[in-house]
Amino acid sequence: MSLFERFENAFMPNYGVPPVALARGEGSRVWDVDGKEYLDFIAGIATSSLGHAHPALVEAVSQQVATIAHTSNLFLHEPEVLLAERLLALLDTPARVFLANSGTEANEAAYKLALKYGRREGRSYFVAAENGFHGRTIGALSLTGKKAIRDQFGPFPVPVRFVPYGDADALKEAVTGDCIAVFLEPTQGEAGVVPPPDGYFEAAREICDSTGALLVADEIQSAIGRSGHWFAHQADGVTPDILTLAKGLGGGLPIGACVGFGDVGKLFEKGDHGSTFGGNPVSCAAALAVLDHVDLDHVRAMAARLRGGLESVRDPLLKGVRGRGLWLAAVLAEPRSAQVQQAAANAGFLVNALQPDAVRIAPPLVVTAEEVDAFVSAFPAILSEAAK
Ligand SMILES: *Cc1c(COP(=O)(O)O)cnc(C)c1O
Repeated sequence: MSLFERFENAFMPNYGVPPVALARGEGSRVWDVDGKEYLDFIAGIATSSLGHAHPALVEAVSQQVATIAHTSNLFLHEPEVLLAERLLALLDTPARVFLANSGTEANEAAYKLALKYGRREGRSYFVAAENGFHGRTIGALSLTGKKAIRDQFGPFPVPVRFVPYGDADALKEAVTGDCIAVFLEPTQGEAGVVPPPDGYFEAAREICDSTGALLVADEIQSAIGRSGHWFAHQADGVTPDILTLAKGLGGGLPIGACVGFGDVGKLFEKGDHGSTFGGNPVSCAAALAVLDHVDLDHVRAMAARLRGGLESVRDPLLKGVRGRGLWLAAVLAEPRSAQVQQAAANAGFLVNALQPDAVRIAPPLVVTAEEVDAFVSAFPAILSEAAK
């Protein structure tokens, strides 16, 4: 039996059967179980920031696992303290950190933190964006603006009002003095790498300030250099009340973080929240290696090269390119993203059919100019193949 059939027989059907079985990686390259080589332009959903088997990540994780792999929250350890301090230094605003294992858990922490604030003030509902994605656990799912994945698991404990993303007037109308918090991605990831119009995040900040609602920036996909900034909200010149991180932070090791700014960071009292694995020493060591080796100048240079290259491609199937930093969507004139993903894989490139008309391109942040050029030169042929 093939690995694919064995996968299908052993796993719940929630993912379907993925089309490629990966065996190993090095830098931006990966090899499947049959030895076929690919350039990885999706990086485990914008997660493998340093690519694969980066020597610094291997060293940090190996050393840490050989020293102490787990303490639980009954005991503290230096890597978690170093990591929290590093994040606070990058944020450069007084804040406090909670460490979790994943994106959805970071958002659960944000949800509970916001709820603690809201209940004190007698506030009753959240606001989030249509097509937004915040995770699969019940709290985060309740904020996720995709009916197909949310509604069958409701009703949810706290009502959520959904607004069209990018529409500041709609946001203003939805957020009243009863609103606990507004959850927004600085650029919507799963919706298709959709940046908002200029000024939207500033408007959200003002609306929250004038109503007392908290602003929660879900930067699980956008942060840690992906957008060309450590945090995408820094480019918008806005400080949220709560920030959530995960994907790129651990470079492939599972970690999530919830940061509360100012007094919001001090709302949880002893016993209010916790996680046995959250902020475990190995994931923290990985995150420290990521923070040491992400080079924003390199990200920006590669981002400009990739974007410029893709924008110069003239093909009837390619309508345009959108996104920020090394986090782009090739927008198609027809719903043929699955065909583009398949044609790219055939040509030796991994990309992601994110929406029927949007292909997500998110290489490791260490991608080289030669690798970017290789993808850009192959792209026209991939598009023509996909159009057939
Ligand atoms: C991926 C993602 C999540 C969920 O993260 P998991 O680690 O899969 O739980 C939440 N929010 C955003 C914006 C994401 O991209």
